Order: sequence, then structure tokens, then C-alpha cells
Amino acid sequence: METKTYSVKSSAIRAAKRQGFATDEIEVMQNSAGAWFFCPVEQEDPDQHLVDEYGVAECPHCNESLDNGVIRNGDEGIELGHEFSCMACDGEFGKKINRASRVAGEHSTTESPCEVVKQKIIEMKGASRKEVIRACIDAGVAKGTARTQYQRHYRVLG
Ligand SMILES: [Zn+2]
Repeated sequence: METKTYSVKSSAIRAAKRQGFATDEIEVMQNSAGAWFFCPVEQEDPDQHLVDEYGVAECPHCNESLDNGVIRNGDEGIELGHEFSCMACDGEFGKKINRASRVAGEHSTTESPCEVVKQKIIEMKGASRKEVIRACIDAGVAKGTARTQYQRHYRVLG
């Protein structure tokens, strides 16, 4: 279909209005010959549904599009500190989840979680933070405790 062109910008805008477009629904452009024409603009950014749902379209940690996959807090067996986590990098984002509302791993089942964390850091020298925290959780330390204790002791022990 040939795009109708206009010699002045205002004519292109008027024509668009006649066709039922609001001014924010069109983009008025000039072609190489200097004639004006309008194009309806995409009303919704393709990522807009992601922004609506998650507040962001890309993972704040790895910049992967969240179309890639998102884990929502509360999904079976998934425990998060924030509302969502990125499937590409495991990074959590979104609203902070109240720890009281968490189910799994809320309470440490070991007598001395701090000692367990310290021990794991020493035992697992060279392992990533994630691996150490995972090992602590497996040993009965609550996720939140494992994280804070890891943060506290890593510099000294790691
Ligand atoms: Zn990510």
C-alpha cells in the first residue's frame, strides 16, 4: 500500500485525525523527497507487559529479557527474598518479601547456624557464595541466616 504524503506537516496530522488517530497515536515523518506522512505508532511497547507485570522488562542483574522466564515467589518449593527471580541468573528483584510470610527455610533447624556457616566457609574455600549458602541451607540453616552470616564471616574466613 502506498503511503499518502502531504506537502506540509499539518496536513499529514489533519489527515491522521480525519482517520481517527489521536496525535499521540501517530508519528509524523518526512520522506527523502521532503513530503510529510504519518505512521500509526505501536501503542504498546512489546516489553510493556513485562513492565506491567514485574516492574521491569529486563533482569536488573543480567539484563536478560524477563520473557526468558521468571520464577514467582510462592511457587512450589521456591523461596525468595523478593517477589521474583530471574531464570537466567537467579537474581532476585521486585518487591521485598516479608520474611515472616516465608514458608520454607524460615527457621534454622540447626542449633548453631552461625557456626555451621563459618565452618562451611572454611571447608568450602574457593566455592562460590551460592554454593556455600546452598550447603548451609542443606545443613539446616535458614536462608536468611546463611546469607547474613556468610556476609559477616566471609571477609575474615574466606
Ligand atoms: Zn538475570
